Amino acid sequence: MKIHFGVDYYPEHWPKKRWETDVQLMKEMGVQVVRMAEFSWFKMEPVQGEFHFEWLEEAIALLDRYGIKTILGTPTAAPPAWIIHKNPEIQPIDREGRRRFFGGRHHDCQSNPIYRAHIKQFVTAFAKRFADNPGVIGWQIDNELGNSHGELCMCASCRQLYQKWLQRKYGTIEALNQAWGTAFWSQGYNDFTQIGTPLITAAGENPSAMLDWKCYCSDLIVDFADWQAEIIREICPNHFITHNFMCFDNKVDYYDLAGLLDFVSNDIYPAGHWQKTPHQPESELAACHDVIRGYKKKPFWMMEQQSGMAGWEIMGRALEPGQMSAWAMQSVAHGADVVVFFRWRTCAMGTEQFWHGILGHSGKPGRIYNEAKKLIHTFTKYMEDFGGSMPSPQVAIVHSFRQNYALDIQPNHPQLRYIEHLQKYYKALYDKKIPVDFVQDMDDLSKYKLVIAPLQYLMTPELEQHYIDYVANGGHLILTMRTGVKDANNLCMTEIELPGRLGELCGIEVPEYDCLLEATGGVLYGKKEYEIQKWCDIIELKGASQIAEYSTGFYKQTPAITENKYGSGIAWYIGTEPGEELMEDIMTYISEVCEIETLGTAGNGVEMMTRESEDKVWLFVINHTNDEQVYHLHGRYTLLEGEREEMLKPYEVQLFVGNKHK
Ligand SMILES: [Zn+2]
Repeated sequence: MKIHFGVDYYPEHWPKKRWETDVQLMKEMGVQVVRMAEFSWFKMEPVQGEFHFEWLEEAIALLDRYGIKTILGTPTAAPPAWIIHKNPEIQPIDREGRRRFFGGRHHDCQSNPIYRAHIKQFVTAFAKRFADNPGVIGWQIDNELGNSHGELCMCASCRQLYQKWLQRKYGTIEALNQAWGTAFWSQGYNDFTQIGTPLITAAGENPSAMLDWKCYCSDLIVDFADWQAEIIREICPNHFITHNFMCFDNKVDYYDLAGLLDFVSNDIYPAGHWQKTPHQPESELAACHDVIRGYKKKPFWMMEQQSGMAGWEIMGRALEPGQMSAWAMQSVAHGADVVVFFRWRTCAMGTEQFWHGILGHSGKPGRIYNEAKKLIHTFTKYMEDFGGSMPSPQVAIVHSFRQNYALDIQPNHPQLRYIEHLQKYYKALYDKKIPVDFVQDMDDLSKYKLVIAPLQYLMTPELEQHYIDYVANGGHLILTMRTGVKDANNLCMTEIELPGRLGELCGIEVPEYDCLLEATGGVLYGKKEYEIQKWCDIIELKGASQIAEYSTGFYKQTPAITENKYGSGIAWYIGTEPGEELMEDIMTYISEVCEIETLGTAGNGVEMMTRESEDKVWLFVINHTNDEQVYHLHGRYTLLEGEREEMLKPYEVQLFVGNKHK
């Protein structure tokens, strides 16, 4: 039997005499794997070079006796006080030039050679000790890389490394001056040693320099993970190596990071304490899973799946009965082969003492434990069958860390957020029960009936050609506002009118535009007037047909949305951010033109998703509400799990299987 469910376990938080009770309860619940030790450096190396792995070996052996395997985390997100005391210079420097000190986590600089030496000594000993341990199956590098590091680090070590990175990229200082446009505000450099890390300035910053800085920070994190992975891989060639990502978090380019891992893992807390609403909308959660699957184009693990209310100083909402199971199976429906619940037992101390798990503080199995047990015992047998299978969407949304960085640096509109904008397109499809893949811009797009490429703000001649070829060969492409504005160096395009060569593809030109700031605008589509937000590209037709026009502004009655046949395909240009209603109606029209199949019909709290093997399709129908829901499926499926077809109880998850039509 393969592994399907697990928990994150911290035996070091509890007296040893409790361990066996925990492991027995885990076994009864159906746990097959635990992740441990990713924050236990001090417990394992309390004094430099003095390693204490006995407690961990004892815990691993106990778990293994019950058939539960272990993943070990390298604890490098929290170096112990003795390291900091000995080498305070490894603490990071923020943009205001201040040190960030010991007492939380991630109080480290990942470029610092002294810190790396400490890590090398520890991770080598750690890996050697567990390389042949029969209970250990794999490793997690660090924890949520990029999290807590924010705009760090500005220290001397990072400055030196950044200068080298720039020298490798540009070769000469003249090339850098050109690429950064340093003629403006007298920002020219004579040589690379004059370039600093981006400490706060008196006023403004150079957008080209900031884009390089963000890319450098991402490369540093990837290098840090790769370097650790190499140490482990050499010593433990039979173990897998993974890392726990955080959905769309953008401190590190996850496509790059995924490249060095055996598989990607993710952490998700739909009702975390930072949510303004009771929980994150289901469509956003679904998009998280889809992008995680997209980073490596493979099934993934949920390394931390929320199992209780989550909070630090304040708390999020309690999980309603059935809600945890619905979220866990949503992960599975979108491509998770394994779900590990965070965490086994709510701990009594530290920053996360209110971050609840399967067991509460008392350690007594209750509602959540029973729900998890029921879920595991219901779905494990099916996961044996569909493990390794993938969803197979007909629609792709293009996602890029570089676009995200550039629009973080200059959002153009105060509230424009790259990921939120992508999520608006995603939601319109999600609500229609149309599955979606996230892809990188230069991926092969030919298998998709429809590709949506929002906010293609940075543009290269290669990417222009890629999109032109896709449409010429029969593809359907949606491009949007702020396309082709900048080159790869984040300098404005000057050769031809916006959106550059893609204007020819779309049959338009965009000679002017309007930022709506606090105002909303209007669009006339069909006979109905709709609300639009944030931005209006002012469009001139150069062969395209207009399918919607502005109804507000000095440009009213000019095109807002256009359609252009090009080669064997069609290119649409959406010159604004549609409000929810317009988005829904325009995506209905476009998905009909593209003959996109929908999985069924149902209200907005009901999710439908499929995973496909060579000959079978598994269909998940999930009720994310605490009301009964009705639905209707398109296609012939057999109900494997669930009370009654076309009817869902609150938070019910139903599973169907069908044959794949060839
Ligand atoms: Zn640093």
